[in-house]
Amino acid sequence: MTSADLPSIADVSRSLLSVPVAADGPGMIDQLRELEDLKSLAAAKQARIAVAFDLSQRREQAAAGVPAKEQGTGVAAQVALARRESPARGGRLLGLAKALTTEMPHTLAALQSGQLNEWRATLIVKETACLSAEDRCAVDEELAADTGTLSGTGSLAGAGDRAILATVRAAAYRRDPHSVARRANQAVNDRTVTLRPAPDTMARLSALLPVAQGVAVYAALTRHADTARSNGDDRSRGAAMADELVQRITGTPAGISSIEVQLVMTDRTLFQADSEPARLAGYGIVPAHWARQTILGQQEHPGPGPADSAGAPETDVRAGSGTDVWLRRVFTAPGTGELLAMDSKARLFPPGLRRFLQVRDDTCRIPYCDAPIRHHDHIIPWHQDGPTTSTNGQGLCEACNHTKETPGFSARPVPGPRHTVELKTPTGHTYHSTAPPPPGTPAMSHGVAGMHPSGPPAGTASTSATGTARDMAPRTAPGPGRGDPGSTMRERAVCPSPKKHGVQVLGRVVPYRSLVVQRGPEAVPAAPP
Ligand SMILES: [Zn+2]
Repeated sequence: MTSADLPSIADVSRSLLSVPVAADGPGMIDQLRELEDLKSLAAAKQARIAVAFDLSQRREQAAAGVPAKEQGTGVAAQVALARRESPARGGRLLGLAKALTTEMPHTLAALQSGQLNEWRATLIVKETACLSAEDRCAVDEELAADTGTLSGTGSLAGAGDRAILATVRAAAYRRDPHSVARRANQAVNDRTVTLRPAPDTMARLSALLPVAQGVAVYAALTRHADTARSNGDDRSRGAAMADELVQRITGTPAGISSIEVQLVMTDRTLFQADSEPARLAGYGIVPAHWARQTILGQQEHPGPGPADSAGAPETDVRAGSGTDVWLRRVFTAPGTGELLAMDSKARLFPPGLRRFLQVRDDTCRIPYCDAPIRHHDHIIPWHQDGPTTSTNGQGLCEACNHTKETPGFSARPVPGPRHTVELKTPTGHTYHSTAPPPPGTPAMSHGVAGMHPSGPPAGTASTSATGTARDMAPRTAPGPGRGDPGSTMRERAVCPSPKKHGVQVLGRVVPYRSLVVQRGPEAVPAAPP
């Protein structure tokens, strides 16, 4: 039998699609179970393929003279792109695949037969990560043979995630009691602070801390809240703790008067009470009224903001809370909503252009990566004559920037609905990433990555758009300083009275579509025109 006679995965998908939904209830339940088994089988197959791919890439890299220490770079990123996952998750999936195929064959077999799903296999691998390869193999065998955990017929048949975790943990501790200590040491390295959006324009700020520090922080906050409440403060205990947390970390009661908060919105949303939502950098989409209230200082804050007049009077909005608000206009091309900016002759992206990339790209531009932007990258590298322009610039996270530099990866800007980048991987697959639509543009394909056997022809994206931006250059010139090729212009806007809803814009009226609005004295020098 030749490989041409064997079915491809596409053949299997087509067969599966043609299977009719069962006619009766019992049949439907059977189908649900069988499909679940199929998903597990697919996960096991993906694990084997990922490991084989890793080996083949390493072999190719070795043949190309890549030092042994650097072999394997870029493999996880390619697995992530193929599986439509973030690069970080791609790395975890590859790690899972290696552990299953090399050290935990029984767990892999259980996954393949549908007794475990990919998530539970991940839990088992994670719980044994602190063990040596030998001990891990032993735990794998113990789980399979002694308890029947993996076969689904033993004492843990029907067990949930927690029960499986407890069994695996117990087996691991028995095998290597010292792993507890090692694990604790390793866990300290994972300490971190994260922010996730929550419903109703709330955010969940989480800190993963060593237990002593976590308890200490919590105790300090509760002590403060209890004292405040015993002195007549009528806030709830939780609210008092939350307010104190914000004040201690940012140094101000409202939390945003001295920290840069970037809101991207249309002029209509700010000035004409339009309902088009805005985008808050690092959070996502926020309702229009919330954005207006934030800018005008009408949010219900527990305490008054400090009177802060550090900003230049020509460039600020006096909002209700007395803090400075900066308006920066960003021009968009009609129809596509592509943001327009100017270029620079410098090798490094100057502050204005960096800010522009930040606003345009919002998060890392590698497909499926939502990480915050840490690097402003020349898509075509400077040493390959890539210019310092908004078209040739993109925002990347640290890990993706590193991946992009790996031999075999290349990228270039290509024509697209908005700013579009084509990423080519060592296997010759291409993926496209398009900048998210700024507020006020009709919903279009958002940062979608496609896989194209052959990419669109090379070209500089939107030359006409760049032309338009240049046309606007004289009007944007009185920015924060010459040589700052920012996309933007500051406009003096004054809120006549904190009680009035709305702001009055002084200066030349130029039609524009999007605004970047910031509260607080930010790092940009405020030179008057
Ligand atoms: Zn990234």
